[in-house]
Amino acid sequence: MEYSQLINDEKQYVMQTYGRFGLALDHGKGCYLYDLDGNEYLDLTSGIGVNCLGHAHEQLTNALQAQVGKLMHVSNLYYTEPMVTAAKMLCRSTGMDKAFFSNSGAEANEAMIKAARKYSQMKYGKDRTKILTLKNSFHGRTIATLEATGQDKFHQYFFPFTSGFDYFDINSMESVKEKADRNTCAVMLELIQGESGVRPLDPGFVKDLELFCRENDLLLLVDEVQTGIGRTGKLFCYQNYDIHPDIVSMAKGLGGGVPIGGILCSKKTSSALQTGDHGSTFGANPLAATSAKTVLSIVDTSQFLADVQEKGRYFMEQLETIRSSSIKDVRGIGLMIGIEVDESEISDLIHACMERNLLVLKAGTNTIRLLPPLIITKDQIDSAVKTLKEVFENETPVENA
Ligand code: PLP
Repeated sequence: MEYSQLINDEKQYVMQTYGRFGLALDHGKGCYLYDLDGNEYLDLTSGIGVNCLGHAHEQLTNALQAQVGKLMHVSNLYYTEPMVTAAKMLCRSTGMDKAFFSNSGAEANEAMIKAARKYSQMKYGKDRTKILTLKNSFHGRTIATLEATGQDKFHQYFFPFTSGFDYFDINSMESVKEKADRNTCAVMLELIQGESGVRPLDPGFVKDLELFCRENDLLLLVDEVQTGIGRTGKLFCYQNYDIHPDIVSMAKGLGGGVPIGGILCSKKTSSALQTGDHGSTFGANPLAATSAKTVLSIVDTSQFLADVQEKGRYFMEQLETIRSSSIKDVRGIGLMIGIEVDESEISDLIHACMERNLLVLKAGTNTIRLLPPLIITKDQIDSAVKTLKEVFENETPVENA
């Protein structure tokens, strides 16, 4: 299909919920994407943190093709090997007790919220339901996860929201203590605030928060939808912070491109949801679970994760060499990196990257977010940095040049 016809048809037939870039992608290989005319783009977006193995990864493609020809879907009323294997791999690797699978990040967080509330209500009675989340967090777009999201702009139009959430300030135990009361059952957070600007939480604060949760029997819920599955150089980001969450949610990278999400529960919380309490028609069906177990077999090895750490360090070091007054900060962990710039320049910078065949993301109002496939090579990082240098050094005056 011609580009112009595609654009016209999209306008006519697709609800306009996305502000799309003027780019129609056709296929991909490794860290590269190709448009309808065959132009090549270096992908530092991974479909917003999904394509951890890049595009058309041979082992993942082969595993999925074999599974499509064998069994794509049966109901969760029956046992299937890929789902059980994916759960076992995740539990064995993390020490968590049991998994539940959904199809997306928001649904994973819904399961996490339900499990936490049921655990607390069974133990303390029906009023103990409140969950504290971080200001500027992002937890999804269902009615409950919108309210869990600590940003006013997401709390418009769709009333009534699910009640039972309150929001605390980033890195402030004082704020947590002020918000927690006897009806609070859990604290839920991203360890790196992704959507709102790639902001890693302070490790000291996270340790103090864990202690406070333990002392008050509040469940510690970690949203690893964006940070999980090797993105930060550990299977889950909480392992960088040396904490033990009660429930972890995941999605995005877990399927490497096939929709799958879920939660991992510790021994304390794994029996909160019982038969009939929760479910999903598609959750970890044989196709989706095959993607998860294949992704895990590749990503969850010490060498692969060490490489992500090393490449993340290298990428940030190289970014630090760009001399531009537009860059206010470079931050992140592993291959989840933010470049903070002036809000007035961000859109032009992202478009200038695209014009130079480099795809990057925006986070919050002023941060360029880089989520490259975890298989990116140092040569590809060098090429990305060269382009970013050109963009920054051409677009803006260079300080002290
Ligand atoms: N939680 C976090 C931290 C996210 O970054 C996202 C999506 O960006 C979600 C939840 C929602 O995931 P999904 O879009 O798969 O529902």
